[in-house]
Amino acid sequence: MTPRQPLSILKDLYGYDSFRGSQAEIIDHVIDGGSAFVLMPTGGGKSLCYQIPALCRDGLTVVVSPLIALMQDQISALEQMNIKAATINSSMSSEQVSNTYRQIQAGALNMLYVAPERLLMPEFLRLLDKCDLALFAIDEAHCVSQWGHDFRPDYAALSVLAERFAHVPRIALTATADAPTRKDIVERLGLENGRTFVSGFDRPNIHYTIALRSSPRQQVWKFIQENHANDSGIIYCISRKKVDEIAAWLSQQGVNARPYHAGLSADVRAENQREFLRGEQIIMVATIAFGMGIDKPDVRFVVHMNIPKNIEAYYQETGRAGRDGLPSNALMLYAMEDAAMQRQWIDSSDASDEQSRIQHKKLNALLGLCETATCRRQALLNYFDDSCEPCGNCDTCEKPPKTFDATVLAQKAISCAYRTGERFGVSYLTDVLVGAKNDKIRKFGHDQVSTYGIGKDLSKSEWQNIFRQLVSMNFLAPNAEGYGSLEITHTGRSFLKEKSTLSMREYVKTSEIERTQRSD
Ligand code: ADP
Ligand code: ZN
Repeated sequence: MTPRQPLSILKDLYGYDSFRGSQAEIIDHVIDGGSAFVLMPTGGGKSLCYQIPALCRDGLTVVVSPLIALMQDQISALEQMNIKAATINSSMSSEQVSNTYRQIQAGALNMLYVAPERLLMPEFLRLLDKCDLALFAIDEAHCVSQWGHDFRPDYAALSVLAERFAHVPRIALTATADAPTRKDIVERLGLENGRTFVSGFDRPNIHYTIALRSSPRQQVWKFIQENHANDSGIIYCISRKKVDEIAAWLSQQGVNARPYHAGLSADVRAENQREFLRGEQIIMVATIAFGMGIDKPDVRFVVHMNIPKNIEAYYQETGRAGRDGLPSNALMLYAMEDAAMQRQWIDSSDASDEQSRIQHKKLNALLGLCETATCRRQALLNYFDDSCEPCGNCDTCEKPPKTFDATVLAQKAISCAYRTGERFGVSYLTDVLVGAKNDKIRKFGHDQVSTYGIGKDLSKSEWQNIFRQLVSMNFLAPNAEGYGSLEITHTGRSFLKEKSTLSMREYVKTSEIERTQRSD
């Protein structure tokens, strides 16, 4: 058989004219036996980067992927192109499994999709020892790293591949990894001698808006009616209960909306997902359980009813909009209580201290994005070490928020945390600043400190707003022990010491801010 050329495979099998971005370069490198780390946004075309080498190199390509549902989609697509692909997973009968084993032994497969648990089984590794292997492709590779936002221990154990199958090239692919995560992935998967490919993270067709949540249903309704009355979209909610409520409410309004969360039966979920993929005017109301691997090109909008976990998650979830390249919208509604809830989750999870610290830091970066007075896209891309000019296609570019010189107020707020020993939360600190007369303050003797009552000229909610921004800008940070006490960060300290100036977003209506303290 004459070796097939990547470009002719692209044309003949996939029906596309040309490679996108760095696809061709990556594919050539891997066909030549090189290993690679590929960071490419969702929808960028990562699958071809290992599928085409799999067809050009002799032997079996093993694709490691975390989700059985995704594997099945990929395999069906490959089978339609007459490519010999199969999976082994926990949902198969033992007969089906042994059938696939036989195919592998006979060298009859091009590609095999497995979850890491399967790959790591001794019996399976022994089977691979005897195979002619072309390539290992590790999809969703950020799961390898504990610095990533979706660490999976089984993925970390994939370091065995570099040791046991040193001669087989490896390609790791992900849409989401900050610098430390990248480094970790490269080390764990032994990709030091391979090449790293990072491609543009900008999704210029997505318009970003991040707004304080005041009356969530009204805000969402207005957003949909004004921009997307005839479109499909995804609305992410924080809990299963909220998903059910919002889906029911939209249905009552005559909107074609479906719920999706892990509490629904597998049948219902599959049915709703099918409807969504097929529909032209349908809204999926979902928890974050929904979306990985969903390839619906005409998702016109993604709404977050609450803040997501971190910037990686935000980028990934909003990235499901506009895969067809047409103008799309991302709207996030946020309130400080979201951050408090996320912090509680982080602290009550059984993650290590190190892990929790990372999660808190990532959350702070997300809050910074929410409060930024400059271009959202710039802030987003900077987070991924990418950059752009002010984009003109986000809320802050279109309507630059009013800012004011908050230097003195910030000094007062931070000093107040300092004078009271960095042991108290926003509400207590606010009480001290406005000079409230209460027992707690008297008990601690904080009516005697120099910051007592120096903030009388502002209302409590205005102070809360200042504190929120100080936390977002990482001048103050919640103490690791929880309970909401604020500590002064390194940045906060140098701000006081160096007497630098600081501007903040001006939130026009105090009443609006007050309303954000409540949920709907
Ligand atoms: P990712 O895994 O990076 O999210 P996919 O591999 O699923 O992205 O590709 C996203 C979509 O783009 C798919 O529909 C795919 O067929 C299409 N695609 C990939 N490469 C090309 C290309 N070179 N030309 C046209 N379409 C492409
Ligand atoms: Zn912008």
